[in-house]
Amino acid sequence: MSKIIIAIDGFSSTGKSTLAKQLAKELHYVYVDTGAMYRAVTLYAMRNQYIDDQQFDKKALISDLKNIKLHFVFNDDKGLAEMYLNDKNVENEIRTLEVSQFVSQVSTISEVRKKLVEQQQEMGKERGIVMDGRDIGTVVFPDAEVKLFMTASADKRAKRRYKELLDRGDEDVSYERVLKNVESRDYIDSTRLDSPLTKADDAIEIDNSDMGLEEQFERIMSLISTRL
Ligand code: C5P
Repeated sequence: MSKIIIAIDGFSSTGKSTLAKQLAKELHYVYVDTGAMYRAVTLYAMRNQYIDDQQFDKKALISDLKNIKLHFVFNDDKGLAEMYLNDKNVENEIRTLEVSQFVSQVSTISEVRKKLVEQQQEMGKERGIVMDGRDIGTVVFPDAEVKLFMTASADKRAKRRYKELLDRGDEDVSYERVLKNVESRDYIDSTRLDSPLTKADDAIEIDNSDMGLEEQFERIMSLISTRL
């Protein structure tokens, strides 16, 4: 069976990664979470004081980009790939609300996007990949055989994200803060000049506000099987 590219885009916390992981497992494909890459660059920018509540020194980050090395390492116990920043596992650090608060600003920078998009295209050149993000079907793989665009109400998404953060032991978060973050990221991601979040013309839109995970998986697998 020939290998294809499955591109999954959509708003924050629409369950893109849950679906992508299910599909990759079923098809024995590689799964790439591109949000993790933008989060890792953001963590680097925070650690080097290029960005905080008061300022964002874009120039300094851009000239330091060459020193940022990103790669994924598959964790057999967890059954998923973890993000490494300059050879250190940063999988937990990149998921905090603090990183979420700055990541959309960092993602507006064209130089950052260019570097990450090149790496993502390299990862998908053999096909057999499920990639999720904001610009996969529009910019990274405009020729992907299957393109999905996920949506759900902001309230449903914030509730899911809030639960995830609590499960991770992040006790300082409140539902209101998470909702504000989800809405502000949606806004920045869909209005930025370079590769804004938008549905590709040939993408299939899935609103999963009221859809269970199993139902969603079954529906999408039957759609994919027609394209394999
Ligand atoms: O997918 P996740 O919510 O972890 O992504 C974090 C942020 O990274 C997004 O809100 C967006 O600003 C940025 N991003 C992006 N392009 C991608 C993936 C993520 O701009 N392909």
